[in-house]
Amino acid sequence: MKKYILSIDQGTTSTRAILINERGEAVYKAQREVECLFPHPGWVESVPDKIWISVIDVINELMVISSCTMDDVAAIGITNQRETTVVWDRHTGKAVYNAIIWQSKQTQELCDEREDQMNFIQEKTGLRMNPYFSASKIRFILDNIPEGQERAERGDLLFGTIDSWIIYKMTNGKSHFTDVTNASRTMLYNIFDMKWDPELLKIWNIPEAMLPEVKDNSDNFGEASFFQGSVPIHGVAGDQQAALFGQCCFHPGDSKNTYGTGCFMLMNIGDKPIISKKGLLTTVAWREKGVTTYALEGSVFMGGAIIQWLRDQMDMIKSSAQSEEYANRVHDTAGVYVVPAFVGLGTPYWDDEARGAVFGLTRGADRHHFVRATLFSIAYQSKDVIEAMKEEAGLELKSLRVDGGASANGLLMQFQSDILQCEVHLPRFIETTALGAGYLAGLGVDFWHSKADIERNHSIERKYYPMMPQREVNELYDGWKEAVKATRAFKPKKCICE
Ligand code: ADP
Repeated sequence: MKKYILSIDQGTTSTRAILINERGEAVYKAQREVECLFPHPGWVESVPDKIWISVIDVINELMVISSCTMDDVAAIGITNQRETTVVWDRHTGKAVYNAIIWQSKQTQELCDEREDQMNFIQEKTGLRMNPYFSASKIRFILDNIPEGQERAERGDLLFGTIDSWIIYKMTNGKSHFTDVTNASRTMLYNIFDMKWDPELLKIWNIPEAMLPEVKDNSDNFGEASFFQGSVPIHGVAGDQQAALFGQCCFHPGDSKNTYGTGCFMLMNIGDKPIISKKGLLTTVAWREKGVTTYALEGSVFMGGAIIQWLRDQMDMIKSSAQSEEYANRVHDTAGVYVVPAFVGLGTPYWDDEARGAVFGLTRGADRHHFVRATLFSIAYQSKDVIEAMKEEAGLELKSLRVDGGASANGLLMQFQSDILQCEVHLPRFIETTALGAGYLAGLGVDFWHSKADIERNHSIERKYYPMMPQREVNELYDGWKEAVKATRAFKPKKCICE
C-alpha cells in the first residue's frame, strides 16, 4: 500500500518538499535555499544544475526524516516558480545559459521592440507585454549563445520552465513535457485554442522544435527513476495555480490571496476565459480530461515587503510579527493612510510613476497608528484587485482563502474581512502550493478519487467574519481612494523620485 504523495515546490529562493498522507495532511517537510545571481542591475538568474541538486537534496532529506523509500510514494507532484526559463542541449542535457528568473528585467528592450503587438498578444495569451513571461527570455538566450538560433532550428536545443527542467532530469531525459498552466505563462501558448501558437512563435522567432509537449495537470509526465525506485510524476502546475487548487477553489468565484513579499490573487472564473480591460491577467487555472478552467490574476507589488520596510528601513518594529502587537495597541489609524507605491501601483491603476506617500498625519498620530495604517494598506490594495476581478468576472466573492507569510497576522486578516465584507479563511496547512501539486498528482493516480474527496479533507484553521458596519467600510475605503488619487497626482521631478 502506497502511503504518500511526494510534492515538490521549486520557488525562487528555496525548494521545498512535503509528503502528504491520504487525509491530505503534510506530514513531513524539507527545505533548501537556492541562490539567485544578480549579474547586472535588474538581472536575476540562477544555475539550473543547482536548482536540480536542491530538488534531489530535499527529497533525500525527506526520505531520511520519514524513514520512507520510493516504494511508499504513489506519485510525485511538481509546482514551480512560473515563467523562469531554461534552455538546454538535447544531446548532453546541459543547460546552455543560466536560468533567467521571472523577475529579471534583462529582456525589457526585447519587449519594448514588440510593444505594438501588445493587444494581439493579449487577445491570444491573456497576458500583458512584460519581461516576466518566458518568450522574451528564450529570445534573449538564443541571441546570447553561439549559433543559438541555428541550433534551436536544427532541434538541438530544448526550452522548458522549471517544471520541464525537473521532469527532464527526473526521467533521465526521457520526458520533455510541461503542463497547461506553465505553458500559459510563456506568451507563446494560445489559451483559447490551448496550443502553441504559430503567430506568437513568429513574433519572437522561436522554433517550435524547442518547445515541450503540453499536458493536462494530472496526466502522466513520465517515470522518475531515482533513489532505487521508480515513481510516476502525475501532477504539475505553476505555483499560483497550484495554490488555487491547494485552497480547493474549485468553483467559479472561489478566490485565494497569497500574502508574501507581494500579494498574488487568483479567482476561478470557470470554463470561459475573459480578457481583462483593467489590467488583470487571464490565465489557465488547470485542465482536467481536456476541460479547461480559467482564472483572473492580479498582484500587489508591496505586500509583506512593506512590513519588512517598517522593520529594516524605518526601525519601527523588531519583527514582522510585532506589527500585529503594535497595531493592536490602538483602536484606529488616527486618520493616517499609507500608500506603498514604492515601485508604482499595479492592478487596477498601472501607474509606474507613482511613488509612496503618507496622508492624514496629525500630532496625535504615533508609531502604532502608523504600523496599523501600513498593515491596512495591504488589505486596501488587495481589495482594489478583488473589486476589479468581481466586476470583470461578474461574480460575487463568498469567501477569500488566504495563505503566505502575512496571513499569520490576525489583525490584518480581520481587517481584510471587514473591508471586503466577506469571510476570510485560513487553511490548516499553509503550504497550499505544494498541497495543490500533491492533490493534482493524487487525483492522477486515484490516491484520491475526486475533487470532492479532497474538499472533504481540506480543513480550515480559522475563519474571519466581517464585523465592521458597511457605513464605516465605505468611509474608510473612500479615504483610501482619495489617498491613491492624491498619490498619483504628485509628480516629483525625476531627480527626486529616483
Ligand atoms: P515569499 O514567499 O514572498 O518570500 P512569505 O510567504 O514567506 O513570502 O512571507 C514573507 C512576508 O510576510 C514578508 O514580507 C514578511 O514581512 C511578511 N510577514 C510574515 N509574518 C508576518 C506577520 N505576522 N505580519 C505581517 N507580515 C508578516
